[in-house]
Amino acid sequence: KELQERIKKDGIAVNEDILKVDSFINHQVDPVLMQHIGEAFAEHFKDQGITKVATIESSGIAPALMTAMCMGLPMIILKKQPSDFKRQSVPEEVTSFTKGTSYELTLSSKFVSEKDHVLIIDDFLANGEAATGAIRLIRKAHATIAGVGVLIEKAFQPGHEKLVSQGFDVYPLARISHMAKDEIEFLED
Ligand code: 5GP
Repeated sequence: KELQERIKKDGIAVNEDILKVDSFINHQVDPVLMQHIGEAFAEHFKDQGITKVATIESSGIAPALMTAMCMGLPMIILKKQPSDFKRQSVPEEVTSFTKGTSYELTLSSKFVSEKDHVLIIDDFLANGEAATGAIRLIRKAHATIAGVGVLIEKAFQPGHEKLVSQGFDVYPLARISHMAKDEIEFLED
């Protein structure tokens, strides 16, 4: 509810597809809100044997870090940039919702193994591309997926259905049912 209220106050619906939240999530970050978000994810995903919290750089890092802190676990950043550890991991190609271009996501096999049960945290769920790439990458490291926590789900886009139909526990903190320029409507519980 706190996040929903903040989106109503400071979120900007650029058009019917894209919500700008750069004054409290994506560019300037509200640490108190992030802490409350971390507590909410930690509460929902508690007692499930989760060993690590993973996110996709860069907007997922703040909420994932707070979640990891509340759960007393390490956080893993799935990297978008090609890097020198690429050879230790087969990259997953992901299409960016906001940019329309694709990028490669990588994860070092040093940090996730078959012993891990991983919670994925991201800022938005739209078409589910980023979450699907993260799931594939974590599975390639032979770990299991505990679920996917997202701050904002645009429920009118197909990501939620895609992930739930594969059996994943998807936990969105705010669910948007409809957007138009300067107009945001939420799915109420
Ligand atoms: P998906 O992969 O589910 O299609 O999109 C999720 C990713 O795209 C998120 O990691 C997020 O960074 C970005 N994204 C999707 N929709 C929006 C949006 O409305 N606003 C912003 N700022 N980012 C979005």
